Amino acid sequence: MHHQVVIIGGGSGGITAAARLHRADPKLSVAVIEPSDKHYYQPFWTLVGGGIVPKEASERPEASVMPKGVTWIRNRVEALEPERNAVRLATGEKVTYEQLIVAPGLQIDWGKVKGLPEALGQGGVCSIYDYQQAERTWDMIRGFQGGQAIFTAPATPVKCGGAPQKIMFLAEETFEQNGVRARSEVHFYTGGAVIFGVKEIAAALEKVKARKGLQYHYKHDLREIRPQTREAVFCRMTDDGMQEVVVKYDLLHVTPPMSAPDFVKESPLALQEGPLKGWLAVDHGTLQSTVYPNVFGLGDVIGAPNAKTGAAIRKQAPVVVENLLAYRRHQPSLPGTYDGYGSCPLVTGRGKLILAEFNYKNEMTPSFPFDQAKERYDMYLLKRYGLPFMYWNMMLKGLA
Ligand SMILES: Cc1cc2nc3c(=O)[nH]c(=O)nc-3n(C[C@H](O)[C@H](O)[C@H](O)COP(=O)(O)OP(=O)(O)OC[C@H]3O[C@@H](n4cnc5c(N)ncnc54)[C@H](O)[C@@H]3O)c2cc1C
Repeated sequence: MHHQVVIIGGGSGGITAAARLHRADPKLSVAVIEPSDKHYYQPFWTLVGGGIVPKEASERPEASVMPKGVTWIRNRVEALEPERNAVRLATGEKVTYEQLIVAPGLQIDWGKVKGLPEALGQGGVCSIYDYQQAERTWDMIRGFQGGQAIFTAPATPVKCGGAPQKIMFLAEETFEQNGVRARSEVHFYTGGAVIFGVKEIAAALEKVKARKGLQYHYKHDLREIRPQTREAVFCRMTDDGMQEVVVKYDLLHVTPPMSAPDFVKESPLALQEGPLKGWLAVDHGTLQSTVYPNVFGLGDVIGAPNAKTGAAIRKQAPVVVENLLAYRRHQPSLPGTYDGYGSCPLVTGRGKLILAEFNYKNEMTPSFPFDQAKERYDMYLLKRYGLPFMYWNMMLKGLA
């Protein structure tokens, strides 16, 4: 099997890039390697967990988003062999290419929290980071009878860094509406050190936190769940070293640790050292591999200090496609540059949203001519209706 351009992953990044490449040059032979027969609009999973949309609204057949004229190889990549311009599939076959786009998303390491795989989905333990579990999350939030509600975020990079707090805001509102808030405590335990990386947004979130009476605990990384005793065990990082902190829970929403997919980590294309070790080594501007110039990275897998979001992909995909085509034409330099744009629509309740948009430098890059650091109803409507419409009808078709 040989294609001029091979794309690993038919998620947000892979499909957007395939559609753009096919539009730019319909004669180019492009293949997408994707094992799943379903495509997910994952930003909806926060709203599924908050009881606002049904999970089915986030799912479509993969065949319905695969651009016509692009070959779908329904298989899983097991190894990268960039020295041979090849990838090895789970079935043992090889696919060769002239250029490769690596867009397999990230890997959720459920097993890195002891007891989590067994506990998930029962006894008050839930997570919106999975299609089925997002629905279970809503069942648990609406059935919560009061007590300790604990929400976590890991010390690793995650997709949509705001989602762990968004689901807490929606849950807290539900507790209030259900009359159980007064007999509850709501805590956020995060492996991170700040409420949000962008200072204007951090200030806005501080107000939400104070209004809702939420208790934040920084530098606490979830390591173990003991379902029998309903205890969550955190590793607290202090200046004097690590300390174990055990917390009782009645509801525990877990944002699991995440990393680059194993086949990327184990390949020569991964960063070999530094804080982003294991993620795909790319130039942060051109998104070209720093190891093999005929390889480009796109989406959650890249080793860059940006926010891993679908919104980032909307800005990255045109850069990758422009640069890949320039590379094919042997242009002396690559014209496209990604500035680290990411966006996090921070739902703070039903009908309320802070639209955070920012770049590599954590500078605000607002799309609208008003103070986006304020909670707004129109921005909520954008998340609920506008962005999904744009995703399915424009972005995945290479039009936005
Ligand atoms: C709960 C939640 C809330 C979010 N909220 C937002 C939000 O509000 N706004 C926003 O912009 N983003 C949000 N995101 C993030 C957004 O969904 C991701 O950043 C985006 O989907 C990443 O696109 P991707 O193409 O890199 O990966 P994905 O879309 O995850 O696609 C990766 C694809 O690669 C395939 N794949 C994996 N391994 C292999 C392999 N070995 N071989 C071949 N194919 C493989 C997978 O099956 C998958 O189809 C959210 C995500 C979650 C989970």
